Amino acid sequence: MTVTASLVQLLHRINRQKTDLKGQLERGPKMVQMAQAKLQVAQNRVDQIQQNIKQMKMDADSKQLQLRERESKIHNLEGKLNAAKENREYQTLKEQIAADRQANAVLSDEILEILERIDQVVVQLGAAKESVGELQLELERISKQVADKKVVLESELSRVESELAEAESQLSGDFIRDYQRLVAARGEDAMAELEGKCCSGCYQMLTPQLLERLSIGHPIICASCGRLIYHSRD
Ligand SMILES: [Zn+2]
Repeated sequence: MTVTASLVQLLHRINRQKTDLKGQLERGPKMVQMAQAKLQVAQNRVDQIQQNIKQMKMDADSKQLQLRERESKIHNLEGKLNAAKENREYQTLKEQIAADRQANAVLSDEILEILERIDQVVVQLGAAKESVGELQLELERISKQVADKKVVLESELSRVESELAEAESQLSGDFIRDYQRLVAARGEDAMAELEGKCCSGCYQMLTPQLLERLSIGHPIICASCGRLIYHSRD
């Protein structure tokens, strides 16, 4: 029994379906991983903003403490000023108080600036948290979709695999070895259709002898790329 071109054509079609289904099955977990990675990036951003806010609040607190300490120092100096007897001492105290008040005014501005920045960053935090929420939903949606599709694809794959086994059981002679070796190495790409007078895998022109064998329905092996070539009857 010889292998017919139509059997190779059938094997090519089934191997293509198998490759396609396997590809779809492999893409599923990658889609989930991508959604997880996106969520992680968004979560990292939330963490970073929260860290930033914490740091700014600590800065503001420490400046406020400094401000209060200096205020009480000013209060003490004012007491001394009232009690001062010498003009020189009075002048020195007055200058000290003025310098401390000036320093506190600067500090006060700095604190306000930090508090305003915190308000802005809190708005950013809200948006970042919202994005995390959306990406969480997206991840759940994709995970469910992939899991549902996996069931369908696996059943489809097992159907295609038994169809393939059935078709392969019709192979005979030396051809089985060639076919198995080629498919193991190249999958669906082990076969190619004749296109004009060329192999559609590598686009090399075939010799007249090979074309003659193809024309009477025998599959042949391309001398250039090693694919099994068949002549479609469609
Ligand atoms: Zn070729």
